Amino acid sequence: MSIQENIEHITSLIESAQTKFGRSQGSVQLLAVSKTKPPEAIIAATQAGQRKFGENYVQEGVEKVQYFNQHYPDLSLEWHFIGPLQSNKTRAIAEHFAWVHTIDRAKIAQRLNDQRPATLPPLQVLIQINISGEASKSGIQESELFELAELISTLPNLTLRGVMAIPQNVPDYASQLAAFQKLASYQQTLATRYPHINTLSMGMSGDMEAAIEAGTTMVRIGTAIFGQRDYSHAHTE
Ligand SMILES: *Cc1c(COP(=O)(O)O)cnc(C)c1O
Repeated sequence: MSIQENIEHITSLIESAQTKFGRSQGSVQLLAVSKTKPPEAIIAATQAGQRKFGENYVQEGVEKVQYFNQHYPDLSLEWHFIGPLQSNKTRAIAEHFAWVHTIDRAKIAQRLNDQRPATLPPLQVLIQINISGEASKSGIQESELFELAELISTLPNLTLRGVMAIPQNVPDYASQLAAFQKLASYQQTLATRYPHINTLSMGMSGDMEAAIEAGTTMVRIGTAIFGQRDYSHAHTE
């Protein structure tokens, strides 16, 4: 299937899951994860109406943002940074992206705020939570959530929109659902203190349906749109 057909297929899966789980139509947005994929693949996705794209690697992502700003400004693509954050790369992210999903410490939030150009709207940010509690995975523990949210709420160039997680990759639906429900409950607790937050970034190609049942508002889909990734030429810094 072509990239356009894949997007149409994913969109119809999202629509039927919204119906199945009593979610309103349009409540789940699709972020197309284009890491390692060339501009032609992104152009194909835009031909199916896709406008939001997620990138994981700073250098590769910045090159794509610049390329599309220069050659396709009328598409008005919305770029989301969804990869691990290093403090020496925050400036490039603050200058090029509209969203960051992976804030996991105060220092990174402060740097993104300080480096966000005054000419751009505030950076839309999500706090990444380590939902499976594995030492190897990035993201904060639940106990650190409110402190980090409080700091972000004082930073004028960042707007806190919600939370994100990458749960352990497990095949069974019940475990996927349980992990996503946990993240959704953190989001609900956070929303009692910050009523404007509205984004729950969870669900990938292998666990999208469970994420929709649990209340996701943004699924991050790569493989099911663009096919398998080839990392041999990627800048994985
Ligand atoms: C790569 C990636 C995705 C997309 O994963 P697929 O399984 O290819 O859909 C989503 N979220 C993050 C954070 C990723 O790094």
